Amino acid sequence: MKVLVAVKRVVDYNVKVRVKADNSGVDLANVKMSMNPFCEIAVEEAVRLKEKGVATEIVVVTIGPATAQEQLRTALALGADRAVLVECADELNSLAVAKLLKAVVDKEQPQLVILGKQAIDSDNNQTGQMLAALTGFGQGTFASKVEVAGDKVNVTREIDGGLQTVALNLPAIVTTDLRLNEPRYASLPNIMKAKKKPLETVTPDALGVSTASTNKTLKVEAPAARSAGIKVKSVAELVEKLKNEAKVI
Ligand code: AMP
Repeated sequence: MKVLVAVKRVVDYNVKVRVKADNSGVDLANVKMSMNPFCEIAVEEAVRLKEKGVATEIVVVTIGPATAQEQLRTALALGADRAVLVECADELNSLAVAKLLKAVVDKEQPQLVILGKQAIDSDNNQTGQMLAALTGFGQGTFASKVEVAGDKVNVTREIDGGLQTVALNLPAIVTTDLRLNEPRYASLPNIMKAKKKPLETVTPDALGVSTASTNKTLKVEAPAARSAGIKVKSVAELVEKLKNEAKVI
């Protein structure tokens, strides 16, 4: 079974992001970039499926600038077999990303596509769902357990009321939640080996996809700074403040 994993290059989760002076976006100059944490979980799940003998090949794909090759190499070091970079300098909206991923799905014909539930830069949480709509595949979003059984995959989903398990016919789309697994670190020998694994670069044009956006970012602003907290002397004072100042009880 071939597994396709979509990974996104994002600002590292430890970085305190700064907004550009002209409010046009987030300042990415000299900022550490990493693989989106939910995408690391997606790669780990694919590698575990391969270790179990369920997956035979893992292809990782990213849509981004040439520098996104770094994240593809990381995925290769973690156990993916091959990588595809859809090179695109512009920041794309989710629909354009989903259309490009659909073109890669058409070409690669994977049985399972694993994405993160959310990219921590845009917090969109929609690419997997859009890809499911475009491909017509079943979707198991917010997965905390993935079990492939024959031509089906059972996905346990984290939902508000608890856990829900859905059975999907393959090919299917899965998006990963935090508790699905704990990603491994790449070992030095595997980082070296990853340098020799195949990495193909394609363009949106070659995939026949228009990435023209219908959205325009008007303004990006930092959240308002929080005012300092205070210490209360007693529970009675806390209750009084919650009631009369914060007005939350
Ligand atoms: P989002 O819908 O933007 O929150 O992203 C959800 C997931 O879609 C990510 O965790 C990735 O698996 C995938 N994804 C989003 N953007 C990209 C991209 N540019 N390249 C590859 N995968 C992406």
